[in-house]
Amino acid sequence: MSYNIAIDGPAGAGKSTIAKLLARELGYIYVDTGAMYRAMACYFLQNGIPAEDEAKITDACAGVDVTISYRDGEQQVILNGENVTGKIRTEEVGKMASTVSVYPVVRTKLVELQRALAKTENVIMDGRDIGTVVLPDADVKIYLTASSAVRAKRRYEELTEKGVDCNLEEIEKDIIDRDYRDMHREVSPLKQAEDAVLLDTSELDIDGVVREMKRIIAEVCHA
Ligand code: C5P
Repeated sequence: MSYNIAIDGPAGAGKSTIAKLLARELGYIYVDTGAMYRAMACYFLQNGIPAEDEAKITDACAGVDVTISYRDGEQQVILNGENVTGKIRTEEVGKMASTVSVYPVVRTKLVELQRALAKTENVIMDGRDIGTVVLPDADVKIYLTASSAVRAKRRYEELTEKGVDCNLEEIEKDIIDRDYRDMHREVSPLKQAEDAVLLDTSELDIDGVVREMKRIIAEVCHA
C-alpha cells in the first residue's frame, strides 16, 4: 500500500519548495502537478494554439504526451519525448497553464497520470485539486496559503535573484488574477478539501513551514 500526502494551495504559497524538502526527508517521491499543466501549456504556445479556443485545444490534446521521470531526485517533465523542465518556469507559461487548465480535456489526461503515480509510490503531490479530486483518499491533506502580498514578494525575490527584471505590483496582480481563475473555474476549482488542514505561511520562513508540516503529518498519522 502506498502512502499519499496531498498539498494544495494558490500560486506562490511555497508548496513546491516545502514538498520537495519533505519528500527528501521522508524518502517519498515528489510529484509537481503544476509542471504537468505547464508542459501542456508549453505545447499550445509552441504550436500557436489559442487558449480561448476550446475546440482547437481539444483537437491538439490528442497530440500531446506528458510524462515525468526523475533525475538526481528532481522531477523532469517530458513533453512528446522532449525534456521541457527548464522551459516551463516562465510567467507566460504559468498564465497559459492557468488559462487552459479550465478545460476538462486537459485535466482528464493529467489526472490519470497523477493517480497512477500515487497508486504505486509513496508520494507528496502538490497542485490545486489533489485533496479534492485527484486523491480524495490521501492519508494527509494540507492546504497551504499566504497573503497575496507575501506570495508576490517571494516570487519577486526569486526572480530578482535569477537576474530577471520584474515588477512587484505586476506580479501581485498576476497572482490575484491566477487565484481568481483557479478558484472560480467550473471543473476542479482550487479549494480547501473538507478534511484538509489549513496552514497559512505568511508569517513563517521555510524552516517554520517544514516544522509545522511535520507536526501536522505526525498528528494526522497518529490520530
Ligand atoms: O503550480 P503552478 O503554478 O506550476 O501551476 C500552474 C497552473 O496550473 C495553475 O495556476 C493552475 O491553473 C494549474 N494547475 C491546476 N491543477 C493542478 C496544478 C496546477 O489546475 N493540480
